[in-house]
Amino acid sequence: MKIIMIAGDGIGPEISAATKEVLQAVNTKFKLGLQIEDEIAGHASLKMHGATVTEALLNKVKQVDGLILGPMSTYDFKDEAKGEINPSKFFRKSLDLYANIRPAKTYQGLRSPVSDFDLIVVRENTEGFYADRNMEQGNGEILVTPDVAISLRRITRQCCERIARTAFELAQSRKKHVTIVHKANVLKIADGMFIDICHQVGKEFPEVSIDDFIVDAMAAHLVRAPQKFDVIVTTNMFGDILSDLTAELSGSLGLAASVNAGTHHAMAQAAHGSAPDIANQNIANPYSLILSAAQLLEWYSHRSGKSEFGQAAKAIADVATSLILSKEVTKDIGGHLGTKETGAALAKGLLALD
Ligand code: NAD
Repeated sequence: MKIIMIAGDGIGPEISAATKEVLQAVNTKFKLGLQIEDEIAGHASLKMHGATVTEALLNKVKQVDGLILGPMSTYDFKDEAKGEINPSKFFRKSLDLYANIRPAKTYQGLRSPVSDFDLIVVRENTEGFYADRNMEQGNGEILVTPDVAISLRRITRQCCERIARTAFELAQSRKKHVTIVHKANVLKIADGMFIDICHQVGKEFPEVSIDDFIVDAMAAHLVRAPQKFDVIVTTNMFGDILSDLTAELSGSLGLAASVNAGTHHAMAQAAHGSAPDIANQNIANPYSLILSAAQLLEWYSHRSGKSEFGQAAKAIADVATSLILSKEVTKDIGGHLGTKETGAALAKGLLALD
């Protein structure tokens, strides 16, 4: 398996280094034949190539089996004409990575303000209220007058269908329950279509039960009783927001892993940003990116039929769970270790497996 790894901005280089150490450990333990190549994007690329991402990098990424994208300081990138492109959007759109799969669960030994839960947010990634991916040319945000702005949201049948199918397929291998989250009380046409299509796709999965909630009520339900949910399927912005909530309910945004998956490509990416407030202090939690990388190995295992990648992914998650319990992790999740030491402890635990 060939992987391109982009360290990213802010805490990116620190959590990427820890992730690489863990990948090297599973590579040795499970004889995966992993080849990891480092590349740059974001501020490092803007400085070196005059753009945060380049077509040459995209072409390289298309040739490999997976991408690990470190967190990006997307808020800094305001003018595409100056090469300031949002790398996240660039790869999601260019590689058609339509499903952003963001699991969240509680861990033994880690205090959570809510009941134990284990769920996945399945977020549509290629349209919705993200103005930078809705148009053939240009951007879906318009400044009509200096005091009037319009942001357009695109919802299409094709994107609804494929994200719904991803959610139902995932639910089939879990607790067989899908929750559709929407705002069809005000976005009657677009979210009405989203709900209808999700229900239609659901008919292909008769063993999976379905319910639906309006997004604001869903925020309350998630805090009140997250254990009631299994797979949550929703449009782009709602998924983005709810998955930060579920990550924090699980203990920390530093546990927020995700994979962006399409038909032919996949990209591991922590759900959080570049966290400049804690960069270069060796305190960021690397588990978000490490568990994202594990999701990428799992994706590759399904795609290639090579079970050792699935075993490696499970081993990473299992050893991480035991280290959370023994508190050999970063401070945000109750431990006493730095970023580097947390990666090293996980790598050591993996190499010590029978
Ligand atoms: P953020 O997600 O970077 O940080 C929010 C809070 O969570 C901060 O207090 C931070 O210290 C904490 N946090 C984040 N990751 C952590 C980790 N691994 N361990 C421990 N604590 C962690 O959000 P922000 O500060 O609003 O944004 C910073 C930059 O990241 C901005 O430029 C923003 O646009 C960008 N961003 C990018 C993405 C992405 O690329 N997917 C997502 C969100 C934000």
